[in-house]
Amino acid sequence: MDRERVKCFIIGSGPAGYTAAIYASRAGLKPLLYTGPQPGGQLTITNDVENFPGYPQGINGPQMMVDLQTQAERFGTEVRYGMVVKAELESNPKVLTTDDGTEIEADTVVVSTGATARYLGLPSEERLKDKGVSACAVCDGFFYKDMDVAVVGAGDSACEEAHYLSNICTKVYMLVRRDEMRASKIMQKRVLNTPNIEVLWNTETDEVLGENEVEGVRVKNNKTGETQEIALKGFFVAIGHTPNTQIFKGQLDMDDTGYLITKPDSTKTNIPGVFACGDVQDNEYRQAVTAAGTGCMSALEAERYLAAMND
Ligand code: NDP
Repeated sequence: MDRERVKCFIIGSGPAGYTAAIYASRAGLKPLLYTGPQPGGQLTITNDVENFPGYPQGINGPQMMVDLQTQAERFGTEVRYGMVVKAELESNPKVLTTDDGTEIEADTVVVSTGATARYLGLPSEERLKDKGVSACAVCDGFFYKDMDVAVVGAGDSACEEAHYLSNICTKVYMLVRRDEMRASKIMQKRVLNTPNIEVLWNTETDEVLGENEVEGVRVKNNKTGETQEIALKGFFVAIGHTPNTQIFKGQLDMDDTGYLITKPDSTKTNIPGVFACGDVQDNEYRQAVTAAGTGCMSALEAERYLAAMND
């Protein structure tokens, strides 16, 4: 089996991973970055990013990620399209096994594996994924142009998706399980003021209907117990995210929901030489710019760790 050795191994290719890569490569660490299953991370499934400082006109999410990758490569980061399937972090060096069977020894590891969209867990939803069931309005909304769709959830993401879809689709049903929304007031207002968005309160999804493609949804009012079937073509799930930390279980400290725990005011994990940045350790801010900020911190901390190692 092939074995390679690097000073700095970065797992994940969102704004956190690429920013760590830019800093680590400029510091001469020659980082190796594995992209993970979604190269570019969650920003590749978003449209315009208008709140990243330095882009007064906004920037397209996928383009921003291409730019970040180019910037990281310019200073010597090696980017590989692949996944880490096993991480042995307690040894020194740490050993990462990738999906093509390569074993890589690393003095430091930056974990920037991000978070993945959650689904309801209904068998019908699973069966109809990519056949009308989606977790990304920006990616798939266009397929439902001039059709009726539903969005599940009541957070900022659900409101954003519903509003985005309202510009493309004929009608958008928002399925909200309580009698209020968690989303910020401004996002709620936007949704409630959009004529072709209808919010169904106290409403849960019983089943997504359709054999080979979504044809509708059966919903239940959890106050009255009444069910109704709504004909629609697209079913968008926007109920939050799960951090991608499965392979670190039992090694890295994490909270009840799987988010990695870092030491206060740093990106240090419980294992020396392993740093965590971006959404994988942040269930509060979850912004590209905060991810980039913590990515920078990880690289600087990795550099200091390596310097101390060689003292
Ligand atoms: P949130 O965790 O904020 O919201 C998840 C929503 O999904 C909640 O309304 C929750 O309902 C609902 N939900 C969860 N499970 C189910 C279920 N099984 N059935 C039905 N509904 C369910 O996630 P978001 O992705 O919306 O937001 C994450 C973070 O990102 C937030 O901090 C948000 O502010 C931020 N964000 C900011 C944006 C912006 O500012 N432009 C855009 C998008 C996100 P309940 O309320 O009943 O628990």
